[in-house]
Amino acid sequence: MNSDCLFCKIGAGEIPAEKLYEDEELLAFRDIAPQAPVHFLIIPKKHIQDPSGVGEDDEALIGRMMRTASKVAEKSGISDYRLVFNNGAEAGQTVFHIHMHVLGGRSLSWPPG
Ligand code: AMP
Repeated sequence: MNSDCLFCKIGAGEIPAEKLYEDEELLAFRDIAPQAPVHFLIIPKKHIQDPSGVGEDDEALIGRMMRTASKVAEKSGISDYRLVFNNGAEAGQTVFHIHMHVLGGRSLSWPPG
């Protein structure tokens, strides 16, 4: 737990969020500024700054994030969705606690802007 980190605080329940799934290691919650009809985030409760900070010991944890994305997407009524990890400010990362965006519920264009 990093006491300066917004998503550590959400993961610890210190800041409220609209939770969609939770277990000991992971939390899925709705994005506060949704970019699609379905837009939620999946975070590990462990503080990892960004995808480039993922270590060998975290491989199973990151795999569980993928599996959780598909389960929560299904519960949200979507079968087609986009998974996004932003790594670094130039790529659009604004919260420096690793998170997976899950976006769907509308047609999504490619490539991103
Ligand atoms: P990124 O730009 O990849 O770092 O994504 C950070 C995401 O966190 C953005 O889509 C924000 O809308 C979202 N966000 C920021 N604060 C909160 C919050 N308190 N609850 C839910 N989502 C948030």
